[in-house]
Amino acid sequence: MNARRVKELFLAMTNEQRAKRDFFFRQWLGRYLPRYVRRRWQLLRNRRGTLEDLFVFLTNQCNARCKHCFYIEELGYVPGELRLSDYEKLAPTIPPLERIFLTGGEALLHPECSEITILLGKATQAKRVAIITNGFLPERVQRFVEEVVGAELPGCVDVLVSLDGLEATHNEVRQSPRAWERANATLGLLEELRQRYPYQLEFGVITIITSRNWRELEELAWHVESHYPHARQGFEFVRGTNFSLWGLAPEYRADFNPPEDSLPPQEEWDNILATLDGINRRRGIANHSFHLTTHFTVEMLKTKRKLVDCVSAGQNVAVLYATGELAVCEFSKPFGNVRDYDLNFMRAWDSPEAEAMRRATSRCWCTHGCYLSKNIEYSFAGLRSMLRKL
Ligand code: SF4
Ligand code: SF4
Repeated sequence: MNARRVKELFLAMTNEQRAKRDFFFRQWLGRYLPRYVRRRWQLLRNRRGTLEDLFVFLTNQCNARCKHCFYIEELGYVPGELRLSDYEKLAPTIPPLERIFLTGGEALLHPECSEITILLGKATQAKRVAIITNGFLPERVQRFVEEVVGAELPGCVDVLVSLDGLEATHNEVRQSPRAWERANATLGLLEELRQRYPYQLEFGVITIITSRNWRELEELAWHVESHYPHARQGFEFVRGTNFSLWGLAPEYRADFNPPEDSLPPQEEWDNILATLDGINRRRGIANHSFHLTTHFTVEMLKTKRKLVDCVSAGQNVAVLYATGELAVCEFSKPFGNVRDYDLNFMRAWDSPEAEAMRRATSRCWCTHGCYLSKNIEYSFAGLRSMLRKL
């Protein structure tokens, strides 16, 4: 085939075909496959996975009480939350990371949120430092972005705002009459800030799918696309240890369950997946691991069967709670407190207690998207399903 023919064929491709070709060459072959091979090689040699993501629950304080919040029982003031001086000791002992996620509670309510973010971002050289917020405090989000971007971290800053339905639904879920207005004010500010910092700042929307909002997903997606063209949007089914975790003995299991909102009706799950596929295909991201989690989640909820091994918890992912407790994942109980290891992260991570928890959680399976998306990336079933969606 001569060059002219190749060019003609290229021009004849639709946008959707181009997106699929790009995904295959740049993402599947260029990114997912090498990561899969590296991780399987480690597993084959019985080596622990490299730590990639750290979830930091900066504070248990929160200015909302959401109906789907699995962390709701823990919220409120708790004495002994780690402060900047503790993180100053801890940060140099954390290995290099790909991503840090700051959450809580509402992470922005920690009085030293920006300073700790900057400290952790620099110490770990993370490629992405993400903060998850309910968007109730637009001015504080703006100040946070300006302070953290101004500190010239090695990686980008990512702000993820929760949006759980259209106005009435969102306000009801968040139990605040101004929640929608404030979250949208925050997203509007982020859209402006993104123009100022196109290379340092990214932002997005997280939507938890529940019995309350499943009818509004399409309309909500259009709202995000039309008002915030630079925002990404991720969807995840509501989760809880009582209904989306299997195979973990009660003594190791955390009790994290939403107080009210539950899963959408089972007879609608396939329709919801079709809606999400339509949204994600339109955005050219339907094949990515995070978007496949909804498919794996529904299959797991329907069959209660394990589809992929959990190779990420306690290996590629760690969870640090506000008072210093450390866990291999959010659905299992913490195995220790970094204060008991002289605020030395690696001493805690390498400890016999951590190893015992890795063993205890080696056979369970759950729908928690942060782990499931990685487990999909590191499994043959996951890689095959990315290609099947092409
Ligand atoms: S979901 Fe987030 S914002 Fe809502 S109550 Fe829980 S921690 Fe607070
Ligand atoms: S994240 Fe992994 S280890 Fe933790 S409960 Fe879920 S399946 Fe088990």
